Amino acid sequence: MAKTTTKVTKLIVLTKRGAARARSGHPWIYRSDVAEAAGEAGDIVRVTDKAGRFLGHAFYNPKSEITLRIITNEDEEINQAFFRTRIERAQTYRKSLNVDADAYRLVHSEADGVPGLVIDRYGDLFVLQVGSASIERRLDWIVAVLEDLFAPAGILLRGDSPSRRREGLATEVTVLCGEVPESVVVREGPVRYHAQPWMGQKTGGFLDQRENHLAAGHYARGHVLDVFSYAGGFALHAAHAADSVEAVDSSGEALEAARTNAELNGLSNITFIRANAFDLLHERSDKGERYDTVILDPPAFAKTKRDLPAATRAYKEINLRAMKLLSRSGILFTCSCSYHFSRELMEETLRSAAVDAGPTMRIREWRSQAQDHPEILTIPETRYLKCAVLERLD
Ligand code: SAH
Repeated sequence: MAKTTTKVTKLIVLTKRGAARARSGHPWIYRSDVAEAAGEAGDIVRVTDKAGRFLGHAFYNPKSEITLRIITNEDEEINQAFFRTRIERAQTYRKSLNVDADAYRLVHSEADGVPGLVIDRYGDLFVLQVGSASIERRLDWIVAVLEDLFAPAGILLRGDSPSRRREGLATEVTVLCGEVPESVVVREGPVRYHAQPWMGQKTGGFLDQRENHLAAGHYARGHVLDVFSYAGGFALHAAHAADSVEAVDSSGEALEAARTNAELNGLSNITFIRANAFDLLHERSDKGERYDTVILDPPAFAKTKRDLPAATRAYKEINLRAMKLLSRSGILFTCSCSYHFSRELMEETLRSAAVDAGPTMRIREWRSQAQDHPEILTIPETRYLKCAVLERLD
């Protein structure tokens, strides 16, 4: 009988440029940097340079522009134990953060050494996003490890993100084990909210904003305008601290969820406004209305590099209007989750908005995504969320 082996046997040879990239600490290797290939989508392959020097083991998908994602530079076996070690390492890091919430990201893809795998935890429910054919093929390993380590009540695969198409994966949302309800109540600092693992944005909530939600709770006071509110991520925290909050979103469903969350927290000082943010900011600033705190958390305006000129104009417009709406000493809490809209470009855009709006704006702090969504120094794509806290001086 043939012995089953997890030894990686298929070989991929990189061009000189590809080898240099592999050695630079970035896991992505593009199709054009592959010199010789063997295997099929979902294989785990052995990667070398042209001289045959070992560079690492990688997820392989010839259908994707990012043909290889290196998972280790060590010549080790890639089996269930390998993934278990990565998940355990991810959990050890999360434990060290003392997250003041029971919903957090356990595994953040490349930044936790498991490209194409996101695992979010909502209490004892786990929600997975899989953007790699190699992970998809080994999902039973991942599920077995999670069951063994955490005994989850349910595991859901949120396989409906558009990135799956690039990997040739079907779009589907399926239960991988246990039971997964439509909605689960989780805590984030002093706030409780309904996460919606099946239908909600991302895996059910904006976990990457958790630390910023908490920070906004500290800054918010007086009369607050929370624009792009979704299910009230910022509004709920602000409402605990401030007199009144207006939560604005163009989606009726999002506002319905926000209203339910306000009730859950016994908060009666939030009003919900269904409107286009651009129109509302324009109208209110023209009318000379004033707020003590304005929060801007728009969707990614720049999904690709090509979107940057239009996105920059949009970011400038909403920030300029928000600055005009601030009362003296008012706080603007402004975010961008577009990777392509860099911190430098955001700063330049905010500067230009402040010049046009008039007031002097003091930078209170620059923030980023929550620490359970870690950044890797050699993988710039892992840093995407920026958040500036600005104070109007005059
Ligand atoms: N602040 C939220 C997340 C916001 S997600 C949190 O921390 O949980 C972005 C939201 O912007 C979505 O709910 C979407 O419905 C809303 N949105 C997108 N375009 C909009 C527009 N033009 N006007 C108002 N809301 C918009």
